[in-house]
Amino acid sequence: MLTKARGLLQSHFGFDDFRPGQDMIIQKVLQSEDTLGIMPTGGGKSVCYQIPALLMRGITIVISPLISLMKDQVDALDKAGIPSTYINSTISGDEMRERMSGIYNGKYKLVYIAPERLETDYFMQILDDIHISLVAIDEAHCISQWGHDFRPSYLLIRKLVNRLRPKPVVMALTATATPQVREDIRRLLDISDEHTVVTGFERENLRFHVVKGQDRDRFLSDYIRKNAGQAGIVYAATRIEVDRLYQFLSSQGIAAGKYHAGMSEIERNRIQEKFLYDDIEVMVATNAFGMGINKSNVRFVIHYNIPRNMESYYQEAGRAGRDGEESDCILLFAPQDSHIQSFLIEQSDMDEYRKENEFGKLRKMMGYGHTESCLQQYILHYFGEENADVCGKCGNCTDDREQVDVTVEAQMVLSCIRRMNEKFGKTLIAKVLTGSSDKKIISFGFDRLSTYGIMKDKSQKETAEFIDFLTAEGYLRPSDGTYPILMLTELAGDVLRGKEKVFRREKVKITQIVEDNMLF
Ligand code: ADP
Repeated sequence: MLTKARGLLQSHFGFDDFRPGQDMIIQKVLQSEDTLGIMPTGGGKSVCYQIPALLMRGITIVISPLISLMKDQVDALDKAGIPSTYINSTISGDEMRERMSGIYNGKYKLVYIAPERLETDYFMQILDDIHISLVAIDEAHCISQWGHDFRPSYLLIRKLVNRLRPKPVVMALTATATPQVREDIRRLLDISDEHTVVTGFERENLRFHVVKGQDRDRFLSDYIRKNAGQAGIVYAATRIEVDRLYQFLSSQGIAAGKYHAGMSEIERNRIQEKFLYDDIEVMVATNAFGMGINKSNVRFVIHYNIPRNMESYYQEAGRAGRDGEESDCILLFAPQDSHIQSFLIEQSDMDEYRKENEFGKLRKMMGYGHTESCLQQYILHYFGEENADVCGKCGNCTDDREQVDVTVEAQMVLSCIRRMNEKFGKTLIAKVLTGSSDKKIISFGFDRLSTYGIMKDKSQKETAEFIDFLTAEGYLRPSDGTYPILMLTELAGDVLRGKEKVFRREKVKITQIVEDNMLF
């Protein structure tokens, strides 16, 4: 059976062999087992149902929330000589009737539908009369309230499957692997534990980096300029930030586009097309961009702000390097950004229990920014691969800079913050340390503190960066709010008492990441 499947993989798609996991999933489905396949973004989920669709007698229904992707998929299948179509809200009534009659007459092997179709009785009744051999559920985490894109219509899938005769095989596919979501998918679709296939979450061609305590705008423009001609995505947390970064990059002569939900659909589609066809190199976007972007040559994904959790991060970062070529995933980590995400969680209509759960996930995301050990290993551990090895190529694994003892400087900053009663933010603290004569400083009498001007050999910006570093390493805790005030942590107390030393890598990282040829 698999030999035949491999033959089809070669003749229709031109791939030599299956990727790990694809063969297992396909085999189970061909043995009529309902199967859950968990694969990272870019891992090759589509093939898992496209090949069985060719080998099974009836039609394969593919349920996908990615309306914008359906046309691309159908076009690609057309090229591969596989008859398919899609039914969603973008097609006219006439077109719909024509396609439905094509479905009746066995014209197609695969039919893509949006989950909302399942809400119309008319559509459900039509499906009753067709021989459906496989129901493939893409982005299956949408069925779970614990997932990041819950779609209530996904809950109707079970109803569809139950009314079809003969009973079709069910295949659920997702890149989300948290135990809660997995459990939900299995329970709601009645898939047994033993028919869950988890393929390795490792994406060997991705190099992860966390950049912290740096001027993010400068890093961004330097990096993009250095990698001119390469396609990349820059994710920011808010529309305002996207607008600002877009302006900034454009002013630097960088061919960028922007994408967020505040733009009209026409405009968004136009920009998306431009990006897909390499007319613009860099897309600055909120997380509204990407679900359904199948651009294989994205060479870098930079997160300007931290996303809400590791699932979102890995999914978004995973849009780099789908073609298997070496690509960079860079997080510009500023601990105060967690406030944006905390705010969004706080404002959401989730109940308290779920909010707590989300805060926990956010803390894990923050941990990714703080960790000094292998970044890929951190990700794989998060997704349950406990035996994951160090990657040897991420920013932390390759960081061979000298560790410099900066305990004295840290004590200066920390004692200054204590003297300012832990009531101010980074900018004012840096001003006091560098001896600025800002009116606010004089009016608070901070010019009389013993720490006033104690770091005047450094620039205000350098000092602010050092404060960012201390925050990233957990010596300072930012309060909630847009302009967080910085408070000392327990660790800071140990530093002040001389019980803990602070080490910082020599400060050459920014030029290293940008200039290091190893990256491209
Ligand atoms: P996912 O849906 O898991 O994000 P896709 O199905 O879009 O991933 O596949 C990602 C990329 O991998 C596509 O460019 C696809 O053509 C390619 N691909 C899939 N299976 C194989 C394979 N067996 N060998 C080589 N490339 C593959």
